[in-house]
Parts: sequence; structure tokens; C-alpha cells
Amino acid sequence: MNDFSLKRLNDTIRDVPDFPKPGILFKDITPVLADPEVFSIALDAMEEKVTGQRIDKIIGIDARGFIFGAALADRMKAGFIPLRKKGKLPYKSHEVSYSLEYGEATIEIHEDAVSPGERVYLVDDLLATGGTAAAAIDLIGRLKGDLVAVTFLVELAFLNGREKMKTPAPVHSILTY
Ligand code: AMP
Repeated sequence: MNDFSLKRLNDTIRDVPDFPKPGILFKDITPVLADPEVFSIALDAMEEKVTGQRIDKIIGIDARGFIFGAALADRMKAGFIPLRKKGKLPYKSHEVSYSLEYGEATIEIHEDAVSPGERVYLVDDLLATGGTAAAAIDLIGRLKGDLVAVTFLVELAFLNGREKMKTPAPVHSILTY
């Protein structure tokens, strides 16, 4: 991925101050999705992180992780697995709860989504405090998936979310703030 493409990606992400609440600078990736060339740059960069490695399943986190994950799955000829907020998955599921800045959240995965030993690639749009991704890694472990790598389009490094990732798998981000 060359610097010109990364700059274009960076310049396309829109900063929205005070959303969803005062003090939060929201990184809005919808302009990336709306521009076919920039969306391709994002997908190329996420695909590049696992070049040459066999991937059976791509796991995307509710909801923006679905967009990148599903598009990558089609490119990489892998299956796509949605990791959803509680109460959305219809079939038998495993769940993990984690703490947010205020309160708790729970995410779920279908119990047959990943077979033991399958090679999985976890993706999401953004790493903030890391609670969501840590819960996702926990769920993948419960299904005995072999986590190959984790990639975020954006990492807010000042929140130290990376420290919560308890996995030997490499954790990548395309853009770091
Ligand atoms: P966390 O569990 O704190 O790492 O939060 C991660 C999830 O919250 C990601 O899936 C993001 O989509 C969303 N998120 C948190 N902070 C931001 C932010 N500043 N801008 C955009 N999305 C955010």
C-alpha cells in the first residue's frame, strides 16, 4: 500500500466532533464506502495484511465490520461470519459481555459459525478502547477457531485498546491516530 493511497484514505475519513456525545471525535467511514476507488484502497490494505495465508472465515463485528468483512470475504473466497449485538442472531449462540465507557454490552456468535481449527481473520472499522475486539477474540477462542490476524481500518492509539487484545495473532491497523 503506497503513501499516496493511504493519504487518500485518510483524507476521506470524516471527523465528526461531539458524536454520539460531547467530547467524542467520531471517525465517520461512510465517505470511504461511497467512493469506489477509496473503498477499494481500504479493502486492498486489509487484504494485504494476510497475503499468502489461507483464510477460511472472515469475522466482521456489528455493524461497520460487516461491510468491510463481507466485501473482503467475496474477494478472498472465504466465508463471512457476523458477530452481532445481543438478541439479533436467530440460532444457538455463544455470548460474551464486556464493559463500555458507561455500562455493559454483549456480543454473540452462532455456535456453528466456525469449526475447530478453521483459520479466521477478524476485521472491524475501528479500535477504540478494545473491549469489543477483545470480546470477539474471546468468542473465536470458544469455538476453537485459529485466529490468523486482526485488522482495523482505524486505530485510536491513545486509548490503548491494543493492550486488551489477548492473542498471539498479529494486530494490524491501516491508519493510526
Ligand atoms: P471499543 O470497544 O471501545 O474498541 O469500540 C469499538 C467500536 O465502537 C468500533 O466498532 C467502532 O465502530 C465504535 N467506535 C468507538 N469509538 C469510535 C470513534 N471515535 N469513531 C468511530 N467509531 C467509534
